[in-house]
Formats: sequence, C-alpha cells, structure tokens
Amino acid sequence: MEYKRCSRCNTIKNTNEYYSNVGNKDGLCAYCKTCKYIVYKQTRNLYFPKVKCECGKTVFKCYLQKHLLTKLHSSRIESYIKFKREKDQASRPTGQSNELAWPVGREALRDAAIACPV
Ligand SMILES: [Zn+2]
Ligand SMILES: [Zn+2]
Repeated sequence: MEYKRCSRCNTIKNTNEYYSNVGNKDGLCAYCKTCKYIVYKQTRNLYFPKVKCECGKTVFKCYLQKHLLTKLHSSRIESYIKFKREKDQASRPTGQSNELAWPVGREALRDAAIACPV
C-alpha cells in the first residue's frame, strides 16, 4: 500500500483515493478524489450557474431553455397548477367566481402549453 498527502485537505490517504494524472511525477493528482470533487463542483457552479425553474426543478442556466421544452417540465407545471388549484379551492370560500381566482394558474398553463413541444 502506498500513501500520499493531499495538497488541499492535507490528509494522508491511500493512493487509490487519488485519480491518476500522467502529468505528475508520481502519476497521481495532487488532490485526493474528495477534494477533486469539491473543486469540480465549485468551478462548475462558477461557470455553469444553476437556476430554479418555476416548475420547482433546479437546472443549469444554460440548460434552462432545453428544460422548458421537456415533458418533465410540462408535467411538473401541470401538477404544480393542480396542487395550487386544490389548495386554492380548499382555502377559498364557496360561491366565489372561478374566473378571477386563478390568473396565475392560467398564465402558467399558457406558458406550459407554449413550452410543450408536442
Ligand atoms: Zn484532499
Ligand atoms: Zn421546469
């Protein structure tokens, strides 16, 4: 068994805790797998920021346009509207007009219809 100290977290770890890197003289990365992953996630968030879609799913900003066209998005929007509608209905006193109660829901439905590729 060989060991190597990670230059980021300063922990001595088994060499199988490191990815190989032919550019280094020991053939291993300077950072352990855990640190590599942390750094990878940090840089990814920096270069590929995430946004929260109105359907509730978090997606990469560059992927949002694509996501809006997916069935997942449409179905999520549909169930979200359904959920809101049921909640509205539960809290709304009876005898009130349906028309005025859900302008948001109707708008979202229209947007979902535009986004739906089918
Ligand atoms: Zn480390
Ligand atoms: Zn969505």
